Amino acid sequence: MPARPDPTTHRDVPGPSALPAPGPVAPGATDPVSERDVEVLTEQLGRAPRGVVGVAARCVCGRPLVVRTAPRLDDGTPFPTTYYLTSPQAVAAVSSVEATGVMKEMTQRLAEDDELAAAHRRAHEAYLADREAIAHVPEIAGISAGGMPQRVKCLHVLVAHALAAGPGVNPIGDEALAMVADRWRPDRCTC
Ligand SMILES: [Zn+2]
Repeated sequence: MPARPDPTTHRDVPGPSALPAPGPVAPGATDPVSERDVEVLTEQLGRAPRGVVGVAARCVCGRPLVVRTAPRLDDGTPFPTTYYLTSPQAVAAVSSVEATGVMKEMTQRLAEDDELAAAHRRAHEAYLADREAIAHVPEIAGISAGGMPQRVKCLHVLVAHALAAGPGVNPIGDEALAMVADRWRPDRCTC
């Protein structure tokens, strides 16, 4: 029979909901996914999260904003969206910006502004490097997401990358974050 833990040193681990809110995720880092995270992600997505390997950004309240996902799901499907925006409030705010058709103007600027185009390409390369660090999936090798490296197709993807990587890595994502800041921002909880 195993010895009982010494009551003077043993502390019961509280249930997931009783844990204090986790702190922010450092730029470029990934938090392990807790049971509580899985509960919140399921609520945010309306389904069980798939292929999640970590939490890449959190709201100040501790809830996940962005998850890092495996480039191949359990059923074998290649999954190029390595950083996935899960916060419904963030998704809605970004959707409202997308609805103005700003991606067309952003793509046009990429064609005219060499510096911006180079930064967008570096973001693409950083995105791919992060994915390769998880696993190599030949079907999506060299293909990032969100329209990178030459276009801007999905701001949700670029915002998710900007939140995960921190400022200065994904310039269009940073720009989109600034555009939604009056409605949604990661340092002010609206969950
Ligand atoms: Zn929050």
